[in-house]
Amino acid sequence: MIKTRFAPSPTGYLHIGGIRTALFNYAFAKKNQGEFYLRIEDTDEARSNQEAVDKILQGMDWLNLNHDGEIIYQSENKDRHKEVIQDLLKNGSAYECYCSKEELDEMRLAYEHKGLKPKYDGRWRPETGKTLPTKPADIQPVIRFKNPPTGFIKWDDLVKGSISVSNEELDDLILQRSDGTPTYNLSVVVDDIDMGITHVIRGDDHINNTPRQINIYKACGFDVPQFAHLSMILGEDGQKLSKRHGAASVTDYMDLGYLPESINNYLARLGWSHGDAEIFSLEQMCQWFSFDKVTSSASQFDLKKLNWINNHYIKTKNYDDIKTVLASKFIANDFDESKLQLIFELYKDRCHTLRDFEQHAETILGESRQIDEDLKIKYLNQDTLQHLKSLSIEFNNSDFSIGAIESTLKNFVKNRELKFPQIAMPLRVVLLGTDQSPSIGHIIAIIGKALFNKRMDRFL
Ligand code: GLU
Repeated sequence: MIKTRFAPSPTGYLHIGGIRTALFNYAFAKKNQGEFYLRIEDTDEARSNQEAVDKILQGMDWLNLNHDGEIIYQSENKDRHKEVIQDLLKNGSAYECYCSKEELDEMRLAYEHKGLKPKYDGRWRPETGKTLPTKPADIQPVIRFKNPPTGFIKWDDLVKGSISVSNEELDDLILQRSDGTPTYNLSVVVDDIDMGITHVIRGDDHINNTPRQINIYKACGFDVPQFAHLSMILGEDGQKLSKRHGAASVTDYMDLGYLPESINNYLARLGWSHGDAEIFSLEQMCQWFSFDKVTSSASQFDLKKLNWINNHYIKTKNYDDIKTVLASKFIANDFDESKLQLIFELYKDRCHTLRDFEQHAETILGESRQIDEDLKIKYLNQDTLQHLKSLSIEFNNSDFSIGAIESTLKNFVKNRELKFPQIAMPLRVVLLGTDQSPSIGHIIAIIGKALFNKRMDRFL
């Protein structure tokens, strides 16, 4: 049975690259009728916090990336990590190192002096026939991994292809700090072993850890899982995606009025493809997913494309589908729901986000906007104001139904031998403060008599 996991560290917000990792883990597990787990890597007590955990859970829940089983908190496995470290000590795969900070600094400087990469020189590493230094009484030792001195670590990465690293490049890494806390590389391996993870799918910022972890698997006597290292997501300027580029956290996208299906669909395409398919559901992605279509090069975040996808999904919705996720400020305005429904239908083709829709609804139903001088000069001369006055009287004699508004408009333009925009544009400017909108007849019918007259009276 295939088992994957998403293993975020709750030390900040859940960024878009992180959730893409979760998505690919989820899709690969589902594709293979496997299981997908969530493990919160909260061992860094100083940096981990509950707010970050909540954001992770909220983001995954929003995107429907439901995990199997219970959430695993890495901090709860500390005793187990230490137990494994003791086993490694016993089987000769680890050893105590009593180097002081000063000694390590000297060691580093000595290497740097010779123009070499700093490295632990192995002074506490036990070897047959070697006499170790005397243990200092005032130092709590760290426990180091006894990395194999020669040979290569090789693996076939499901994304990056075949990778080989020489053991000579690897240090005897610390498994347990002098305060007794296990380190990241050890904890990850032990948890992945205990959870029975078969495929480790994560960001390629971890690729340097993988050979070290493979050696730990072997020293523990366990099979090494398969690895898939996903390439980075870059911003539109080619730099690593970060807050500088605008919204970087998943929950920001929720607040900005993106739909979960758009984010999943967009992130799926960011680094993976299925023929020419651009629009697909999470279920379809799960049916189609395979690593041979995951790119090994970095992908570039493209807000225009995300907006295009979000617009696609917004168009498929009814007002009832989206009303629960509208901004609270907007709901507080207490707009008439039946009008909001009509506005949504009228405007959804033009909305890249739900915030766009809210903006349009505000323009139509909210406090009327200041009108730019430019628009006034362009559209509101004495003649047009006269026309609007007469038209206004005709509308007021009707029942303000869409049928009545449209036929009044049509006849008015025809009788006065005007072109439709000569009336429609000034109406838009006076009623909405803009010269762009869908059918002005529909807007007038939505606004209704009272608001129509209020806005007209400002001018006439
Ligand atoms: N906790 C690590 C991170 O958030 C991921 C570890 C892993 O996936 O192996 O970057």
